[in-house]
Amino acid sequence: MFCPFCHAPDTRVIDSRLVADGTQVRRRRECIECKERLTSFEVAELLMPKVMKRDGCRDPFNEDKLRAGMQRALEKRPISAEQFEASVSALIKKLRATGEREVSSQLLGQWVMESLQALDPVAYVRFASVYWDFKDVDAFKEFVDQLNQSHSEVQ
Ligand SMILES: [Zn+2]
Repeated sequence: MFCPFCHAPDTRVIDSRLVADGTQVRRRRECIECKERLTSFEVAELLMPKVMKRDGCRDPFNEDKLRAGMQRALEKRPISAEQFEASVSALIKKLRATGEREVSSQLLGQWVMESLQALDPVAYVRFASVYWDFKDVDAFKEFVDQLNQSHSEVQ
């Protein structure tokens, strides 16, 4: 970024911090030539939608939370780091591509389940069992039976 005071072609970043819920980056810059200081703001062109929870609260999308949830489901499963990263990137891309200001946590949960289903059936069942919060063994058994049924239909 050029200096607005002396028009030197470059300024040095001396401090960067996230502001406005992490949707903007505020940078303090110093001109290499005249040593004047200025502040610049950067806004990502494609903002991630916020996640609307069941109780109506909106949270900024949290990639760490997404990763943690998926990693828990994939624990000790034969999935490579590359497969995992590809899956996370695809989900983030899908979220951005909505162009929406917010998506429901249900929809996000659904998408996570779909990508886990493609990765590993065990991880899918693990995640789904937490997600659907089965009240009893019968409800869970019914879910697994349906899963087996749809699986055998595919074959
Ligand atoms: Zn300058």
